[in-house]
Amino acid sequence: MAIVVEKLEKTYKVKKGADVRALKGISFNLPDTGMVFILGKSGCGKSTLLNILGGLDGFDGGDIQIDGKSIKGYKANDLDGYRNDYLGFVFQENNLLEKENVRRNVGLALDLQSLKDKEGKVDGVLESVGLKEFADRKCNCLSGGQKQRVAIARALIKQPKLLLCDEPTGALDSETGEEIFNLLKELSGERLVVVVSHDRESAEKYGDRVIELKDGEIISDSSPQSVVEAAEQTKVKHGSLRFIRAFTMGVSYIIARPVRMAICLLLCLITFTCVGVIDTFNAFDRYHAMMYTMDELGSKNYAFCKNTFYKGESLMAESSISLKNAEELSTLLDVDRCDYIYTLYNSSLNVENTDGDSNWARYARVRGYLETDSKLLNDYGYKLVAGRLPANTDEVALPLYLFNFYKTYGYKDGDSVIEIGSYEGLIGKTVGLQIIEKTFTITGIIDTNFVYKKLADILFNGVPYDKLMDYGDVLSNMEDIEQDVIHNTLFVCNGFSSYYTENFSNLISESNFILRVIAPYNGSDARKLKNLKACTTQYDGVPVSINDPDNIITCYHLINYAAEIIMHSEGTFNIVRDCSIYALLGAILITVLFLTYYASGTISEKHREIGILRALGASRLDILKIIASEHGTFAAGSIAISSVIGLITTICLNNTFNKTFGFGTVFIKFGIRQFAVVAAVAILAVAVGVAFPLIKLLRKKPVDVIADRK
Ligand code: ADP
Ligand code: MG
Repeated sequence: MAIVVEKLEKTYKVKKGADVRALKGISFNLPDTGMVFILGKSGCGKSTLLNILGGLDGFDGGDIQIDGKSIKGYKANDLDGYRNDYLGFVFQENNLLEKENVRRNVGLALDLQSLKDKEGKVDGVLESVGLKEFADRKCNCLSGGQKQRVAIARALIKQPKLLLCDEPTGALDSETGEEIFNLLKELSGERLVVVVSHDRESAEKYGDRVIELKDGEIISDSSPQSVVEAAEQTKVKHGSLRFIRAFTMGVSYIIARPVRMAICLLLCLITFTCVGVIDTFNAFDRYHAMMYTMDELGSKNYAFCKNTFYKGESLMAESSISLKNAEELSTLLDVDRCDYIYTLYNSSLNVENTDGDSNWARYARVRGYLETDSKLLNDYGYKLVAGRLPANTDEVALPLYLFNFYKTYGYKDGDSVIEIGSYEGLIGKTVGLQIIEKTFTITGIIDTNFVYKKLADILFNGVPYDKLMDYGDVLSNMEDIEQDVIHNTLFVCNGFSSYYTENFSNLISESNFILRVIAPYNGSDARKLKNLKACTTQYDGVPVSINDPDNIITCYHLINYAAEIIMHSEGTFNIVRDCSIYALLGAILITVLFLTYYASGTISEKHREIGILRALGASRLDILKIIASEHGTFAAGSIAISSVIGLITTICLNNTFNKTFGFGTVFIKFGIRQFAVVAAVAILAVAVGVAFPLIKLLRKKPVDVIADRK
């Protein structure tokens, strides 16, 4: 470890006033072992020289050669490695991590070299400085002399070839000071110990050699060394802080300032949760909402209707589907089976109207008929809950929804009203279609999965018609349900359609008599629907068949209760979504600013500590690791918590939407995409927040970090 210093110059640039020439071209050589004192009055440049020797600070002229290699050729990394591997530093202010115990402080130097204390090195070193019993004591509970011993132990643990001590006894009483000098003297048997001091007496007593400085120049040297044989070049190796240690340090930084951290965390949680939740708004699409709603409601079929409208006009008129159109549609749908619900006109049920209001007739009526056999029931998942399927054109089976009207309001037979207590009570009775003046015998009841529970509760629990108004949206919901024609359709035998057309052709025109085309829906795996190039909802149809290119456009639409109410609620929902985006941008900005404030806070708080680490040889990368661990953990924590809160919030919001708009209509979902968005925004926000103070910190020279200079 031969050190040659040649014409070393150092000038401090001072913002106000003249530059300070702290070292004015000094030259000397240092031996491999022994105790060399650099003596001089305060301000003569001792610390400057020591810091440069230790690679903590740069210089402006001249050169330093270590083992024949100029320090100028060192990269920042090499310098860190040099400090890490060859140097031990002891400062006047011992620069310990006050809150950690003695063992941790000393072990830190090993950590920085990624070494584990396998052979009990720490204990060995503590013994050599006489601190064995204090290993587990916190540093802020030690005396000044003991602290300085810890600092020496920390410097020694790496078995450095060079021990640099800047006024190591400056803060101690003379007796303790002597002890420390004795210890250093003992250590100088195996290595070079350079001690900076203004205490001439000690220098002469302990120093093998005393170099005296004055105003940045050497004024005397007790035994100058002339010839220095360049020792064998030792390769500088780069130890680095083990990740786990960087991580625990980073985490300890988080909890160092709990209040500020908590405020920052709270702010982040609010913002990041909003990010996730608002993204669920953005991810909302009708298609998924409808699928979800159909799944949740247990819908068993898709129903399609036809709309025609004049080009350029948004208003659409629902029209019946001709046989030709229906065939076209079933080809488009590309499904395994397709069935037609035919139109029935003006067919109120013979339900007793309890309070004489004819409006009941509007809901207690049939709108169509569907030719049925047991395979159809099976394919659609409908259940025959009583009786049997119709066998001829005089018979029908009723959907459960219609049966419930009889059960609730009674069966009207001429002037008398018969109470219907059970399914069996209705079987064998007749249902009349006024317009054709024909009655059909009811043979069975079919459960078509009418799951609008809230409505069913109100409707079938005997609430009088005029009181229905008290139930808010019930009436409009009733109209929406009418879209699901399946619940007020008569189930008839195969061949009924030709019987009906033949006998009642005066009521219908051949081209205008199919009300709905239906297909089985088998849950959320609705690939068939995705294939449908026709539109999926009633209201954003892409025309698939243009009858008259200039005027009339025809669309097929998936139409059901879900689609209807989604349409009603979407306007409000979109407004909420658009407003929340702006609120969110504001929140993100505030959060980033606060994160910057928080990060500069923790970084400046830990300035001295980071400085100590730098002096011990921690590289910029090591510091980056610590800060990244700190803020990475913070970010990870806030991502995790935000996601959980986001998930809960979406569930609550869905409940609210369900109450406001109707079940499942504005269904939002916090999924993987939202998690990813939250993570991305959080990582970005934290990174941006930390970047500025961190870059500022990393650009500083170690000496400035230690001295905590701006
Ligand atoms: P010593 O350790 O011998 O007391 P220093 O090496 O600390 O002296 O300082 C030498 C000279 O350089 C002093 O005049 C001091 O004011 C000046 N100096 C030290 N550090 C700085 C700095 N960062 N900026 C400006 N001047 C400095
Ligand atoms: Mg000094």
